[in-house]
Amino acid sequence: MLPSFFDSVVQLIIRTSTDLPPDVRAAMKTSLDAEPAGTRASQALTIIAQNIDLASNNEGAICQDTGMPTFEVRVPVGADQIWMRQQIREAVAEATRRGKLRPNSVDSITGENSGDNLGPGTPIIHFDQWERDDVEIKLILKGGGCENTNAQYALPVELPHLGRADRTLDGVKKCILHAAWAAQGKGCSPGALGVCVGGDRTSGYAHAKEQLFRALDDVNRDPRLAELEASIMSTVNDLDIGAMGFGGKVTLIGCKVGALNRLPASFFVSVAYDCWAFRRLGVTLDGSSGAIKTWLYRDPSHPIIPMLDQAGFVRTGREIALEAPLTGQQVRSLKVGDVVLLSGPMFTGRDAVHAHLMKHEPPVDLRGAVLYHCGPVVVKEGERWRITAAGPTTSIREEPYQGEIIKRCGVRAVIGKGGMGARTLAALKEHGGVYLNAIGGAAQFYAGAITSVDGVSLLEFGTPEAMWHLTVKDFPVIVTMDAHGNSLHKDIEQESGRHLEAIGI
Ligand code: SF4
Repeated sequence: MLPSFFDSVVQLIIRTSTDLPPDVRAAMKTSLDAEPAGTRASQALTIIAQNIDLASNNEGAICQDTGMPTFEVRVPVGADQIWMRQQIREAVAEATRRGKLRPNSVDSITGENSGDNLGPGTPIIHFDQWERDDVEIKLILKGGGCENTNAQYALPVELPHLGRADRTLDGVKKCILHAAWAAQGKGCSPGALGVCVGGDRTSGYAHAKEQLFRALDDVNRDPRLAELEASIMSTVNDLDIGAMGFGGKVTLIGCKVGALNRLPASFFVSVAYDCWAFRRLGVTLDGSSGAIKTWLYRDPSHPIIPMLDQAGFVRTGREIALEAPLTGQQVRSLKVGDVVLLSGPMFTGRDAVHAHLMKHEPPVDLRGAVLYHCGPVVVKEGERWRITAAGPTTSIREEPYQGEIIKRCGVRAVIGKGGMGARTLAALKEHGGVYLNAIGGAAQFYAGAITSVDGVSLLEFGTPEAMWHLTVKDFPVIVTMDAHGNSLHKDIEQESGRHLEAIGI
């Protein structure tokens, strides 16, 4: 057996969760430099850059959603894959115990969280053999927000704003453009696309995800696909969707396309969307000891350069400081585009809490309250809880519930990311409420704005799904849906849709 194998896999998981690889950092730095200072996109990217630095400095999770761990392992002929699989599973449980992975494995029937990221289908481990003596392990941690924006198309298909996508490369291009447009900011843009042309429904999605293991700055060996990748990058970055869907010049940091043969009757295009928190790394291990020989995606001769030379939120002087609980008058004075620094109490709530509130009285008084769509990473230290990562989760999942909860419980502000739909917008107008967009994935940054964890309700739902009672100080958010019926998300979606129509493929 390989005595260092377990420790090497634990190291790989921790590094992947906490330290973005250099190609992603470089792409994010280019994105930041492209946006004019003081714009919403620039403020979002500045927070993201600080978050990247904080995560690697503190060895904390870059994003609180540490995703579905997916391992691609290549082993010498004759290696004991059963033993390695067990070691990888134990390493995942150990990284979860250390708070580097959020417990993310939930029984699909009962909703019960296994607590250690182990369960049927989790983690995902694929083995392959190769004619070498060492072992290669690659890992990607892809979160739920971006996973939910994946898309698969069966050509020919009619697409909004783009017309019919035929079984041609132009048809493929239309599908990829549609997927990027439909994602808007929900997958925490700027993001990267892995695409598979062909295959069947299952192999297409798997191959699309495999493309995300390519370095962002590589060039496709197939010149037709290289041209397609370049064309998608420039077209999507002209749609003005921008970071978090706030509008801006950079919507994509990468597009990687592969192709598989298909049945004559089928023509699928599968798109895997990954967010800016593009966490994938790899190692090669010594074939006899299991010790790490090399890190993939990293050049050890190049030290990691911090993204920024400053810390803290960069103020423009136009920010509005508010203290919760909030009054109807306070939220009605806010308009789309305002930057708010929130202080005071805040309650987390995501899927399980929303389903619960539809049938039960809230466990705390929510009148005037701020409800934060967030499933944090939490560690218990003695009798106290500490939140180590606390960015927003995708809000649109709560659309069926949110309007009723706002009106019945008296919530004045909802914080999340990606925006919400028409029913919530109507409830905000009717009741006097506001939707505040936090910067998706900025888990370390927002954890730093939490001054105390004051309690917890509904802990039986598991730590990510419980309702945490927090106090925050100067928590920066942007008003993207106001009490007057305005929605930045709706505006950007419509405007970028018009850009798509003008492309004329
Ligand atoms: S950055 Fe956004 S999309 Fe990515 S894992 Fe985090 S919350 Fe999900």
